[in-house]
Amino acid sequence: MPDGNFEASAKVTLLGAPIDAVSMDETVARIHRFLDEQRQHQIITPNSEMLREAAKNREFRDVLSRSSLNLPDGAGLLLMARLTGQRLPYRVTGTDTLQILCRDLGPEYPVFFLGAGPGVAERAAQELKARNPRLKIVGTYAGSPSESDAADIVARINAANPVLLFVAFGAPRQEMWIAQHLSSLTSVKVAMGIGGAFDFIAGVQKRAPALFRSVGLEWLWRVVREPKRIGRIWNAVVVFPSLVARYGREAP
Ligand code: UDP
Repeated sequence: MPDGNFEASAKVTLLGAPIDAVSMDETVARIHRFLDEQRQHQIITPNSEMLREAAKNREFRDVLSRSSLNLPDGAGLLLMARLTGQRLPYRVTGTDTLQILCRDLGPEYPVFFLGAGPGVAERAAQELKARNPRLKIVGTYAGSPSESDAADIVARINAANPVLLFVAFGAPRQEMWIAQHLSSLTSVKVAMGIGGAFDFIAGVQKRAPALFRSVGLEWLWRVVREPKRIGRIWNAVVVFPSLVARYGREAP
C-alpha cells in the first residue's frame, strides 16, 4: 500500500475523541512505518470506559486528540459509531496488536515492557520470546505511574535503548504517563498503553473466550471474574452509550 493511503484512512469521532477506522493489517503496517520515522508516536487503544473517562477529563481528551493512532479496542465503539451514522469496520485490540507485532519483530526493533504486577511483564516477555526467538526484549520493569518513580523509569528505559515501549499502568494513567514522558525517552519511536495485556499473555488473567469476544461480551466475562470492576463496567455499558445518545460525535 502506498504511503499516502495510511494518512487517508478514515476516522470517526465519539464524544469529541477521534478513533481510527483501521484493520489489524493497516495497524501493523502503520506501526512499522512509525518505527522508521524520526518523530515519536503515541498509540492509544480506546474502549467504552476510556471514552467515558475522556468525556469528563479534558486532559485525557487532549492526549487522545494528539496521538498518532487510536485503535478501536472496544466492541461498544463499533456499535456507537453505527448509531451515530459512522463506520468502524473492525475491532482492533491492544492485546492482539501487541502479540501480532511481537510475532514478527526482528532484533533491529528492541522492545521494553513497563508496568503490571512484579514479574508479570517478565513472564509475558518470556512467552512472546518463546513464540519469536528473534524478538529482542531489552527490559521489563513493573514500576508505578507515580510521579516520584518517573525519573528512575525514564533512566532505565533510556539505558536499555528500546524503539518500542508498551506500558501497562491501566487507563488513563498509562496514556497520561506516555504523553508526559515520551519526549524524554530518547530512543523510543512508538509508545503504546496496553492495559491488562501482560496479565493475559503471562496467564495471570484469563482472557474472555473467543465466543464472548466475537459477540461483544468481553465486559460480561470480566465482571463475572472480577466483580470489583462493576463500577467500570457500568460506565462502559450504561453511561457511555447514554452520553453518545445525547451528544453523539461532540464532546459533552
Ligand atoms: N497497573 C500497574 N500499576 C498501577 C495500576 C495498574 O502496573 O498503578 C497494571 C495492572 O497490574 C495491570 C494493568 O495495569 O497489569 C492494567 O490494569 P487494568 O486491568 O486495571 O487496566 P485495563 O486493561 O482495564 O485498562
